[in-house]
Amino acid sequence: MVSYSNNRHQDLVEATNNDPVLQEVKNYIENGWPIHKKTINPLVKPFWDIKEELFEWEGLLCRGVKLVIPEKRRNHILSLLHKAHRGINSTLSLARSTFYWPGMCQEVEEFVKKCQICQKYSRNNTKEPLKPHETGNYPFPKIGYPEVFELRSTKAEMAIEKLKEVFARFGVSEIMMTDNGPPFQSTEMMEFAKEWNVTHTTSSPRFPQSNGMIERTIQTLKSTIIKCQQSKQDIYQALLLLRNTEHNSLPSPAVMLYGRKQRLFLPMKTTPMNESRICEDSIRKQHEDNQSRMKFYFNRHARDLPSLENGQTVLVRKEKQWSPAKVIAPEVHPRSYLLEDTKGSVLRRNRRDLRPADTLSGPTEKESPPEKQEQLDPQPSTSSQSEETSATTRTRCGRLVKPPVRDSCPGYVDIVVSNTWSPDITSLVNPGLKMTLKNSKDGTVKRIKLSMSKIH
Ligand SMILES: [Zn+2]
Repeated sequence: MVSYSNNRHQDLVEATNNDPVLQEVKNYIENGWPIHKKTINPLVKPFWDIKEELFEWEGLLCRGVKLVIPEKRRNHILSLLHKAHRGINSTLSLARSTFYWPGMCQEVEEFVKKCQICQKYSRNNTKEPLKPHETGNYPFPKIGYPEVFELRSTKAEMAIEKLKEVFARFGVSEIMMTDNGPPFQSTEMMEFAKEWNVTHTTSSPRFPQSNGMIERTIQTLKSTIIKCQQSKQDIYQALLLLRNTEHNSLPSPAVMLYGRKQRLFLPMKTTPMNESRICEDSIRKQHEDNQSRMKFYFNRHARDLPSLENGQTVLVRKEKQWSPAKVIAPEVHPRSYLLEDTKGSVLRRNRRDLRPADTLSGPTEKESPPEKQEQLDPQPSTSSQSEETSATTRTRCGRLVKPPVRDSCPGYVDIVVSNTWSPDITSLVNPGLKMTLKNSKDGTVKRIKLSMSKIH
């Protein structure tokens, strides 16, 4: 009997054995590292800083959960990582969660930049979603889990059949957000949603960004399909990578849905089942932190428009003109209103395209910004902050960096970071988020390690 399952593993073991640098590292792991960094081979030096995290696993070198890839296999790994033709950040995110080698981040960046398919289909970044979706109480209320089906028609029954298939496989989602395509406005769809106990909501007709995350995922899927067709690559491999790529420092869709990473066609370090499960509470916490951070930064530049009352006379934007209408149902969907215009027709518009009629005061009003707006004050931060902490961002290489000191940001842990870590100070910032801090010589906090701590 021939087993092919470990081909990639075996191949990596051989390449590791033939890699002089990794052999030296292996040797140090077995026999101990020298006392001084300067005495070691310059090519081994990058491993010195992470030596506590290195160990041997089934003939391979590992840095924590990441496989250390020998030089001769790095190009091949880069091509596997980029099979979904995602951008630099996304490809890096996948790389960082699975592999390590010195200079990997830069190589990923260069690889993506040089990809001809990506260059051909590059598009401008669309805006991030503005209104965050709330986290549900259990998995799968609103997970942006990408599924792709080929439909032979846009008939409702076709779409319903595929939705049933998805719900039967993953369980029924609480909320179903769709666009306004014909199948989603049909009576059949309404009956289906009722029968399957799903709340069906559609985005506001003139403001599809209210479905931000979904619109973005669809854009990504569309461009992935096109790129895969062009490069004759397997769309299902690309889909698998998409589902297993972290986004916005949140776990991947697969982890959100299943609570653990899926096995990929990439060589990966496997973990026992009971250790691979990721705590839902910590995912939720992280999601909420991300959202409050996002909202905070958004609200610093944007202002919420006040709600409109039922019966209120408003002006509706039609192209560049504003014409009067009356609110007949406020906030049917977040920031969306039903209106009746002077001819008696019913319209649905986003709050952006509406303004109270009484604020039209003079000729200068024509193209001025909408009416007085109230500023949403960010909640004061609940976490205590010291002098050397401020909001952090993640660099492409996954390192957290300190931006200039600004106002505090609610629900977000402020951390200062640099290069080496050791478990000098440990503090529990919030459930599921453990920080390890190191004091450098001058006493400032230098680097943290964030890890999901297992609960139970
Ligand atoms: Zn590409």
